[in-house]
Amino acid sequence: MSEKQVVGCRRCGRALSREVYPLPEMPQPELRAGGEGYDPTVPVGYVAVDPVGIGRDATGATVGTVGCLVTHIDDGLDLVPHEDAARHHGCCADDGLDGPNLRCPGCRSEIATLRDDCWSPQELRFEPDVAALMPLSKTWT
Ligand SMILES: [Zn+2]
Repeated sequence: MSEKQVVGCRRCGRALSREVYPLPEMPQPELRAGGEGYDPTVPVGYVAVDPVGIGRDATGATVGTVGCLVTHIDDGLDLVPHEDAARHHGCCADDGLDGPNLRCPGCRSEIATLRDDCWSPQELRFEPDVAALMPLSKTWT
């Protein structure tokens, strides 16, 4: 049996998620029954790598980082809200279109983007240059 894995900070080794199991493919966000918003992109307990960013803007440029580790919002661990209000735009919550809006609880790196707005996919996106899937034993909380 393989060792338990979590998303951890590459810089300080802090655990950033509960135990997660890798999915072979990035699921597509599905509209919630009734059509209001989206169901969580990734189920609790899983992680997927998004081969594309959040989307494209009107000029065709990619929005968000390519290759993020994506989890269910509830699997994030002790992440600290970014102090810059400009990172937290949205209608009812965070749309995640203004860069990482969460910091590492250990070293304060800009580590993840919460998307929990009424119209956006419901997901937590970890920046691949500072966060990685790692064995639980290599992290601290
Ligand atoms: Zn850190």
